[in-house]
Amino acid sequence: MRGAVPPGAVLSTAHVRTLAVHLEAMHALAATPANLARDPVRFPRAYADLRDVEVAAVLSAQLAYGRVDLFGPVIARILALADAHGGPAAYVLTFDDARAADLAGVIYRWNRGEDFVLLFRLLQAVYRRHASLGELFQPGPVGASLGAAIDTLRALTPGEPSRGFRTWLAHPGDGSACKRWLMFLRWMVRVDGMDLGRWTHLSPRDLVIPLDTHVMRLSGFLGLTRRNDASWRTAEEVTAALRCLDPDDPVRFDFALAHLGISGACLGHRDADVCPACPLAPMCHAPAAPARPTESAPATPAPAGRRAR
Ligand code: SF4
Repeated sequence: MRGAVPPGAVLSTAHVRTLAVHLEAMHALAATPANLARDPVRFPRAYADLRDVEVAAVLSAQLAYGRVDLFGPVIARILALADAHGGPAAYVLTFDDARAADLAGVIYRWNRGEDFVLLFRLLQAVYRRHASLGELFQPGPVGASLGAAIDTLRALTPGEPSRGFRTWLAHPGDGSACKRWLMFLRWMVRVDGMDLGRWTHLSPRDLVIPLDTHVMRLSGFLGLTRRNDASWRTAEEVTAALRCLDPDDPVRFDFALAHLGISGACLGHRDADVCPACPLAPMCHAPAAPARPTESAPATPAPAGRRAR
């Protein structure tokens, strides 16, 4: 039941009821074609076959770091290669040394061609054993489910993974917020105008929020957590607070929270021009704008708008 706050929760019942109203307003505003057009979920949404969706979703989620306008073309380039060979699943199932050579020049920040080669060889190993990547994820609390799936993926990884590749197999047991896998799970499990809802054996009730820079910051502004580290513990605490708003679908507001930051609409501090139009303004405890730099002081970096998750 919405508004029932468990003992020891971060939020009070009154806070939950008021916050729910404002988050609903923001959620309604965020579900726009413009936000979908810059969200990485647009890549797996282009496919119908389950395994095509899974491969495109894994690739898109794992590359969704840094700037939206920089990682999007890299995902599109790799998926174009896959489409030229029958689509993402067919590309993975027939992946060989010739395909590996095609990826040699693909680079995005700390991920190199060899990482993409290893990712496709890993997915090939999965599909030789399972009809769907979803078989690696068991129903129940997502911490245990994701942890077991990552254990399996680590065991199946052929060769010696680079540091860049190892970031793709972050494990909740190591304290990582695992935001990219949690975003992937949100896509695969939830169903609405944005998410894909292709894995019906898992429940949206069990999901944990993908705690990116924007969601972390806004969670603090809204009193969803008092923690300031982007860790698994914080992701669980924010999710517990959101579960008070919607026990059946605690990560429902993730898309809206993330896109408030990605779009650049939130400057990360109170702003007399921007904040009055924000649906969250009545509940937001963002700090005041930083002081203007003086001639002798270094300039404050511009807000990170249009960064991904
Ligand atoms: S700082 Fe302003 S724009 Fe950002 S969440 Fe708070 S009220 Fe909204």
